[in-house]
Amino acid sequence: MARKTVPAGVCAFCEREVAAAGMTKHLATCAARQAAIDKAEASKRKPQPLYHLVVRDAVDGTYWLHLEVAGSATLQDLDVYLRAIWVDCCGHISHFVFGTTRYQELIDGFFALGDQKSITTKAVDVLRAGLKGKYEYDFGSPTELKIEVIAERTGKPLTTKPVTLLARNLMPAQVCVECGEPATHICMQCYYEQGEPGCYLCAAHARTHGCTLYGGPKRRYNSPRTGRCKYDGPAKPPYS
Ligand SMILES: [Zn+2]
Ligand SMILES: [Zn+2]
Ligand SMILES: [Zn+2]
Ligand SMILES: [Zn+2]
Repeated sequence: MARKTVPAGVCAFCEREVAAAGMTKHLATCAARQAAIDKAEASKRKPQPLYHLVVRDAVDGTYWLHLEVAGSATLQDLDVYLRAIWVDCCGHISHFVFGTTRYQELIDGFFALGDQKSITTKAVDVLRAGLKGKYEYDFGSPTELKIEVIAERTGKPLTTKPVTLLARNLMPAQVCVECGEPATHICMQCYYEQGEPGCYLCAAHARTHGCTLYGGPKRRYNSPRTGRCKYDGPAKPPYS
């Protein structure tokens, strides 16, 4: 079985469609992004280290984001962002792991196990170019993301928000296994029983599909959380 092709994405500045593998290079030379940087530099915001992150789902990298995180932001700001754009279904716990350190919400009265720090740690105290780590959401039915800091620059943040979206994958195209029409649903029961590439269905065939475990076929979203737990989108950034 051929590997799924990684879908192209859209640059948040010029809105051009770019292949996943070419997005880093595109962002480095995008005139619209440079104009946004020039505009930010003329603002009264505080110059600080800014980190260019690529975040991918750990399954096969179908879903990917390029983000810029301000040094003054906390890992919790990034957690809030990832929950909004991708993973949150019902407020499960999550953590980041960089090196041997876990960053999570520290609860009073619990002993820290191993090397553990607060998720309110500032990005500037954790991130640096070349660093790789991961993010896990919901330890029962987990969604794992890989994080890579691909670049660091010093400058004024592009917005007043802690995280800026630079680019994002387009919704992966899938067709209904029954009729070949664009698929709006996925059956997780078939997925868990048969594995990749997954049982994708159009709305009509989702209604007549026989599987009942996990509540029947689930709607698809542009999110690696699709089909898991009670995930029902909206898979939108919390702000722009
Ligand atoms: Zn662009
Ligand atoms: Zn849930
Ligand atoms: Zn099924
Ligand atoms: Zn169909």
